[in-house]
Amino acid sequence: MAIEWVCGSLKKRKVWSDGLFTLTIDCPGVSPFEPGQFLQVGLQLPEKHLHRPYSVASPHGDELDFFIVRVQNGELTPRLWDLEVGQSIDVCKKATGSFTLSHTPVAKNLWLLATGTGLAPYIAMLRDPKIWESYQQIILVHGVRFLSDLAYTEELEAHQESYGGRLIWVPVVSRALAVHGFQGRITQAIQCGKLEELAGVPLCPESSAVMMCGNPQMLDEVEEILNIRGMRKHKRNEPGHYVVERYW
Ligand SMILES: Cc1cc2nc3c(=O)[nH]c(=O)nc-3n(C[C@H](O)[C@H](O)[C@H](O)COP(=O)(O)OP(=O)(O)OC[C@H]3O[C@@H](n4cnc5c(N)ncnc54)[C@H](O)[C@@H]3O)c2cc1C
Repeated sequence: MAIEWVCGSLKKRKVWSDGLFTLTIDCPGVSPFEPGQFLQVGLQLPEKHLHRPYSVASPHGDELDFFIVRVQNGELTPRLWDLEVGQSIDVCKKATGSFTLSHTPVAKNLWLLATGTGLAPYIAMLRDPKIWESYQQIILVHGVRFLSDLAYTEELEAHQESYGGRLIWVPVVSRALAVHGFQGRITQAIQCGKLEELAGVPLCPESSAVMMCGNPQMLDEVEEILNIRGMRKHKRNEPGHYVVERYW
């Protein structure tokens, strides 16, 4: 079925570090969606329409945010990186995807695990009241290579202040010393017990729901660890403990 496009324009371009950026696109006309869903974003080239799926990093509205990394030799992202405010950019009208709170198990605590731009769906969720109404503690774990890749820090700190400690934010930095958080990879932080120590709550089937998004290697390894702990992928007909969004 042909994709229906909304012709948007670039309203704002925020650069977090070289190649890591958020585009705010003015695109009224996108149908309502749930935080965590994704939209196709693209450009009309002379020879074809070039588009890719992106998790929306904001709740539904006339302006939508997308948190993107420029992929070396990627087809679309270097073009998105070069866009200037005011230029046209297409966004599809209807969002898809089930990486949302309504497809996530009910539990006392919600663990949000992300590498890189896998943070995007959580930024949208944290801006919406539903997550705060549904879970007691939210533990956001963001794995990056360098400290400069830790985007949205001010916004996350503001959530921590507003919600009186219900958001525990653990930066995990693999190639630099993490002042707050863990130095290494998310999988190492889980396996050595440090992540639970920093979170102050256990990662266990009794009290945890887990969402994970980003790099496929992290997803595979964390799935293995969770399975060993007796946690299972959540399915509609077979309730479990975790849900996964793969970017590639
Ligand atoms: C459901 C879904 C949601 C997504 N949401 C986002 C998002 O919010 N932000 C985002 O930046 N990307 C996201 N992606 C990835 C995005 O669709 C593109 O694959 C990516 O932007 C690369 O496009 P490209 O044309 O530049 O590269 P291509 O020429 O298509 O090359 C693809 C290759 O780029 C690499 N790659 C893809 N995505 C990433 C990434 N995020 N980080 C590092 N390497 C990557 C992989 O090696 C992949 O095989 C999402 C993908 C899916 C399936």
